[in-house]
Amino acid sequence: MDDARHILHSVFGYERFRGHQEEVIATLLAGRDALVLMPTGGGKSLCYQIPAIARPGTGIVISPLIALMQDQVAALTQAGVPAAFLNSTQAPNAQREVERQLLRGDLDLLYVAPERLTLERTLEMLAGARLALFAIDEAHCVSQWGHDFRPEYMQLSVLHERFPDVPRIALTATADEPTRREIVARLKLEDARVFVSSFDRPNIRYRIGQGGNAREQLLRFIREEHAGDAGIVYCLSRRRVDETAEWLAERGYTALPYHAGLEPAVRAANQARFLNEEGVIMVATIAFGMGIDKPNVRFVAHLNLPKSIEAYYQETGRAGRDGLAADAWMTYGLQDVILLRQMLEASDADDAHKRVERHKLDAMLAFCELTTCRRQALLGYFGETAPRPCGNCDTCLDPPETWDATVPAQKALSCVHRTGQRFGVSYLVDVLLGKDDDRIRRFGHDALSTYGIGKELDANAWRGVFRQLIARGLLAVDIEGHGGLRLTEGSRAVLRGEERLWLRREAKPERTRKAKAAR
Ligand code: ADP
Ligand code: ZN
Repeated sequence: MDDARHILHSVFGYERFRGHQEEVIATLLAGRDALVLMPTGGGKSLCYQIPAIARPGTGIVISPLIALMQDQVAALTQAGVPAAFLNSTQAPNAQREVERQLLRGDLDLLYVAPERLTLERTLEMLAGARLALFAIDEAHCVSQWGHDFRPEYMQLSVLHERFPDVPRIALTATADEPTRREIVARLKLEDARVFVSSFDRPNIRYRIGQGGNAREQLLRFIREEHAGDAGIVYCLSRRRVDETAEWLAERGYTALPYHAGLEPAVRAANQARFLNEEGVIMVATIAFGMGIDKPNVRFVAHLNLPKSIEAYYQETGRAGRDGLAADAWMTYGLQDVILLRQMLEASDADDAHKRVERHKLDAMLAFCELTTCRRQALLGYFGETAPRPCGNCDTCLDPPETWDATVPAQKALSCVHRTGQRFGVSYLVDVLLGKDDDRIRRFGHDALSTYGIGKELDANAWRGVFRQLIARGLLAVDIEGHGGLRLTEGSRAVLRGEERLWLRREAKPERTRKAKAAR
């Protein structure tokens, strides 16, 4: 291990190991396999780079991202480590030269794309070389149920069969239990030591609010809590990015847009300003953020709902890398829920994938509507147990009230039923409130028993009821784009009165101020 520590100082210029790095490296140096689950930015690369340098022979790194591969090789070369890559972007000459270097034993690290590695030709070539280890980066790509499934990864079990004596390390930032089990099974890592780092980011305060005027809420949040701070505001569409950036700029903030529709030069310039200037707000689609390592981002705000908890965790994780207090702030509304459900159903993914996506969106919605600690739920989703509520999320700081919404929910559901399961929320709310309206009269819905039976709530409260019913899967949204609602299996139990329904009382505006005073 002295050797490893020496490499850490002399090659990489770091003082000490972080988290599990040292134990992982020791495991590989002892010739054993390892499975490493570490959040993004945790320092996974050193876990295989150092043992590859320390052990005799070449470390083979399997990585699906060609751009990342090139960056890593460039950085290693600059640090004086002999490294190269093999992928389809190279000229045949260059490829042959890399192969010669490998066979001569001139390389400490060789990065290979998975489809390349599993070619018989490549395997034969590797058999003729001295190998230090195999590192399988982004190992969750082996999971059929993940976002990033890559069929080539399925064939990587061949490494164990063909090279039983070469230690293997698999790495990923996706830590949920099913994915972990799949990685172990498919890559034949039953004997590997497993290292799970905590995914907790204790300095990030999680807050999720509902609907209303999202932009005004955002402005108040920035003005009252983050004046002069650097932050990221995520929006779903390019148009919303442009509008929001402009709107914030008109109010005196340095807010810049970032999305794939901008000229590359503009994008690069905005990114550079965000990185180098103080207090710049980047308004962006999710295209922004990959590989951005700015330590003092004080807030990440979402004006739309992310489509999964993994995405939410990744995006909010860009706040507070320096360990100082930071906010993950989000507001979302009925339209988001409807839109994401529609996008999902209308996509041309196959049924099995849709089922997974649906499940992920459901988990995200349930997370939004939680009345218990958000951090506990977030960590629980990644397979980690937090023993007690965190004291640093909105539900801990300002516990939401719940109310028995069984009767209003029954009214809402029977209104859906009686109007024929094809109308959207606005129309249904009008019927419940007994609004005097041409369309309602034309359909004869003013004669229904549900017409005007909802006067105990106002329109906004009804929208909240519908949103939560959709979030809980008690109503389904049609895919044709009209936002018509249908009953589901689950709605019948509520309609029949077999199940009582407690909903979150909608937050009042002064709550943001109260949460701030508590800080
Ligand atoms: P990951 O692959 O897990 O996302 P990286 O390997 O890219 O993370 O590392 C993230 C950052 O942390 C890099 O800038 C890296 O140089 C730095 N880093 C890694 N290990 C250490 C360490 N022991 N000390 C200081 N910085 C480190
Ligand atoms: Zn909490």
